[in-house]
Amino acid sequence: MQRVGIVGAGFTGAVIARELAEAGIASVVMDERSHVAGNCHTERDSRTGIMVHRYGPHIFHTDRQHVWDYVNRFGEMVPFILRVKTTYRGHVYSLPVNLHTINQFFGKAMRPDEARAFVESQARSDIEEPRSFEEQALRFIGQPLYEAFFRGYTRKQWGMEPSLLPASILKRLPLRFDYNDNYFNHPHQAIPRDGYSAIVSRIMDHPKIEHRLGCRFEDVDETFSHLFYSGGMDRYYRYALGRLGYRTLDFRPSYHAGDYQGTAIMNHPEEEVPFTRVTEHKHFAPWEASGFAETIVFHETSRACGPDDIPYYPIRLVDETSMLRAYEARAREDAHVTFVGRLGTYEYLDMDATIDRALSAAQAYLSARPA
Ligand code: UDP
Repeated sequence: MQRVGIVGAGFTGAVIARELAEAGIASVVMDERSHVAGNCHTERDSRTGIMVHRYGPHIFHTDRQHVWDYVNRFGEMVPFILRVKTTYRGHVYSLPVNLHTINQFFGKAMRPDEARAFVESQARSDIEEPRSFEEQALRFIGQPLYEAFFRGYTRKQWGMEPSLLPASILKRLPLRFDYNDNYFNHPHQAIPRDGYSAIVSRIMDHPKIEHRLGCRFEDVDETFSHLFYSGGMDRYYRYALGRLGYRTLDFRPSYHAGDYQGTAIMNHPEEEVPFTRVTEHKHFAPWEASGFAETIVFHETSRACGPDDIPYYPIRLVDETSMLRAYEARAREDAHVTFVGRLGTYEYLDMDATIDRALSAAQAYLSARPA
């Protein structure tokens, strides 16, 4: 009896494997890296003992009750509210842009309605349907706040003009006219007590799931009854139609005594500063943050993803989406493979959306299967 093959041991692969296993279907999960959880991977830093988000900060947040219930089956989620700060021209401001940011930035003490009217007076109300990141910013935030907090950061993060990027990227962030500085709007916000990799390992801990780490799918010659592939479509088809563009990230770790910046994430939107943000990992686990003698900090920079780099953010410009459509047309002819996950669907998915999609992909497979 052939097993199902699942490429990638991130949330996507793990959740699909689990759903299949619980329906009695055996699978093999393969990942070329030596650890599970993909870019959500967390591990204790060997020098300090701090739980490190190896591939950048991950905060779990969702309004999907079934996804929240699902992750809670596999580990303890500790409530965590992300409060991001940003340093611009020698001053520290609150993010996402809220009443405090507006009052700090303009040196005022406005009440909500006054601030709303003030920002609206700077906004480009003639932009009726913002299409690009820049139009979205100019329409809702106005030029001064956009130029301080978004333009430089976005050019560094995406390596291109915000006028070329989709408005959807900026729509991820709220704009608030009260003092709420919670980075997200979702009712459930947490970080797993034992890290993400522990959760993903527990999802895959089932007798019907075999997992092989350090295993490149290209080197596997076993045949599978079906394949779920959570790598890029372009890689699966050996780049026959070209390479889909991604941004990759570099993290420069450093160690410091005590508390380096007093918070988990400090953004640096100025273009002259080479990094986009600085992450201090012990602040992602405030329940243990006081127990460490040293602190570990990552300075994060972004650049174009080369052939040997780890892809993080799909760029999804016009040329890329047409290449994606061509790959998707080809994929429709390959009924034995389902492309899943952030890379497989080439979408900027958060963890909760990833889990939701994986549950649906498994369900679709199970219901299409002959009885
Ligand atoms: N962004 C920005 N300035 C900031 C934070 C975010 O311009 O201080 C823009 C940037 O283009 C970024 C996008 O908003 O890619 C989404 O931000 P988010 O914090 O959701 O990014 P992630 O944590 O997923 O990298």
